[in-house]
Amino acid sequence: MTSRRERERLGLYVHIPFCSAICNYCNFNRGLFDAEVKQRYVDALVQEIAAARRDGQPDAADTIFFGGGTPSLLSADDVQRVIDACAASFTLSADTEITLEANPETVTTELLRAFRRAGVNRLSFGVQSLRDDELKRLSRLHGADRARAAVAEARAAGFDNLSIDLMMWLPGQSPAQWLESVDGAIALAPDHLSLYMLEVYPNAPLRDEMARGHWSQAPDEDAEAMYLSAMERLEAAGLFQYEISNVARPGRESRHNLKYWLDGDWCGFGCGAHATRDGVRWKNVSATADYIDRVARGESLRTDERRLTPDERLGDALFTGLRLCSGLDLDEVNRRYGADVWGRYGDELEPFVEEGILIRDGSRLRLTRRGMLLANEVMAVFV
Ligand code: SF4
Repeated sequence: MTSRRERERLGLYVHIPFCSAICNYCNFNRGLFDAEVKQRYVDALVQEIAAARRDGQPDAADTIFFGGGTPSLLSADDVQRVIDACAASFTLSADTEITLEANPETVTTELLRAFRRAGVNRLSFGVQSLRDDELKRLSRLHGADRARAAVAEARAAGFDNLSIDLMMWLPGQSPAQWLESVDGAIALAPDHLSLYMLEVYPNAPLRDEMARGHWSQAPDEDAEAMYLSAMERLEAAGLFQYEISNVARPGRESRHNLKYWLDGDWCGFGCGAHATRDGVRWKNVSATADYIDRVARGESLRTDERRLTPDERLGDALFTGLRLCSGLDLDEVNRRYGADVWGRYGDELEPFVEEGILIRDGSRLRLTRRGMLLANEVMAVFV
């Protein structure tokens, strides 16, 4: 995992804000699918990407990530148009990682083959659970069998880089039930797996449904045990943890997400997409209609655009880098930002080292696995 490559080439994020139904826990930037709006949105995306081309030599990029929403609601032609637009505005590496997030109920072998032909070479399935009762509780449209079938279809379509998202700490979920999903996912032999803890935000419809159904989330100690036992099982199955929430077979780490964690630069396209380039950060307007209208009128899409201060850049590099199991190379961070990290934060970090939450090994600083459960407390030091 070299940080130089991640920093020398851009990552391109493309946001697709459409879903077939809105899940009861979701607070992403998304809305219901409408074929006509989707078409105008893809036209706008292509225009926005074309306008990103810089004069002279196009910038180098080596990842494209279709995130959402539900990007698998796009047609293969839509995906092809967006990839072609990226190739026209950026110099894409021959081995560019092109990921598409997919919901199991939206795919068929034929559609997946067409995505593959369009250039997608990595799929990330939003499986969330392999228990029907849990999926129903989350108002997901697929069942466990559909999720398993989708993975088989992806392999049949030629995808050899496949990730699965699972969600833990679900309402009413016991540790044993969680491990059923983990074992079920292992049986699907994915190349990569992301584990997220469900966060029930204040206005989520799920919150009311939990109250009505008398479902609660397991106590914190159980959540910790769920996380730790899942990591152990995944590692025993050859999926190695490389980030707080992510495991992969060697060489199958998400190159795109590594750009976020290794202090790289990325461009974001589409409504609500974020970007960070050359120390400047911005976000596109969030509403789909506003985004389409602004692109049509040739107006700026950017909101909250600002140059990060040197302290913010340093804080971000420390905050994100510590998420990786390999941790931070303090010498490198010191060189990049002209800062003495240990001199500045050492007094506050030392107690975490003494408690076995952080390990300081030469110039490297990293969280222990137990420390990953307390990452927010450690990272608060840098904010
Ligand atoms: S499919 Fe994903 S993005 Fe769409 S509503 Fe459900 S959780 Fe949100």
